[in-house]
Amino acid sequence: MHVFRLRGNFETLDIYSAALFELGARGLEEKPGEVWAYFPERLELPFPGEWLELPDTDWLEAYKRDLKPVRAGPFVVLAPWHTWEGPEKRIVIEPGMAFGTGHHETTRMALETLAERVEPGMRVLDLGTGSGILAIGAALLGAEALGIDIDPAVIPQARENARRNQVKVQFQVGSLDEAYDPLAETAPQAPPAQPAPTPLVQGPFDLVVANLYAELHTYFAQKYRELFGICGTLILTGILAEREALVRSALEASGFGLLARRQEGEWVCLTYAA
Ligand code: SAM
Repeated sequence: MHVFRLRGNFETLDIYSAALFELGARGLEEKPGEVWAYFPERLELPFPGEWLELPDTDWLEAYKRDLKPVRAGPFVVLAPWHTWEGPEKRIVIEPGMAFGTGHHETTRMALETLAERVEPGMRVLDLGTGSGILAIGAALLGAEALGIDIDPAVIPQARENARRNQVKVQFQVGSLDEAYDPLAETAPQAPPAQPAPTPLVQGPFDLVVANLYAELHTYFAQKYRELFGICGTLILTGILAEREALVRSALEASGFGLLARRQEGEWVCLTYAA
C-alpha cells in the first residue's frame, strides 16, 4: 500500500480531499498532525507531502483489528469478518465508501430509537440511507423498509448489505426535493449545471428516519409532513447540539410535537410525532 502523507488535519486539508479521491485515493485517515491518503500506486501529486510504503497486509490487518463491533440498543453492528456470540440482533455491514458502519454517534442513536418505535408491518422510510444500515435495522424489526439516497454510488452497497443480512429492503436513488443543498447557498456558486432531476419519494409512511444535517432538516420541515398519513413518527439525527434550536423551531412551526431527545457527545437525535 502506498501512503501519501500530508501535514495538517481533515479540516485544514478539506480543500484537497475531493482532488485526492479523483486522483485515485482509496481512503483518507487522520493521524496526529497529518493525514494519510492511501493509493494503490505511486503517482505525481500536485500537493506538498511525502510518500511512505506500507506492506498491504499490515494496513489491512491494522484496519480490521481497529474496527470493533458496535452495540446499539438490541443491535450489534458487525463487519463481515467479526464473530459475535451475544444475543443481539446482528447487522453485518461491509465498511466502504458509504456512510453508516454504526461507528458514528448519529447512526447508533437512530438505531436505538428505531428499536423503541418500529413495530412489525410498519412502512418505514430511511432518508439518506448510505450503507442502508437504518433501513436494514428497521427490516430486522419487521418493518417494510425503503431506503433512499441522493447519491447513486451508495445504492449498490446498500443492496449488497441487505442481501448479507437476508432482509428484503427496497433501495432507490431519491430525495424529497430536487438535488438542493442548503449549505451551497453560502458557498461560492459554481456555474449552473443541468443535473438530472432527483426522483422524489411518495408517502404515506408510518415512520421516517433521516440522518442528514440540521440545515437540511430545517429546509425539509414542511416536506416531512407530506410523508405521513393521519399520524406517524419522525426520527431526525445528524444534528450538532449547537444547531438543535434551528431544527426544533422549524419542526414545531410545521406542526410536529417533540416526543423524545437523545444526545451522544455533540450529536442530537430528535423524535417527533407527526
Ligand atoms: N443512514 C446512514 C446512517 O445513519 O449511518 C447514512 C447517513 S449519512 C450521514 C447521510 C446520507 O444522506 C449520505 O449517504 C448522503 O448521500 C445522503 N443525502 C445527503 N443529502 C441528501 C438529500 N437531500 N436527499 C437524500 N439523501 C441525501
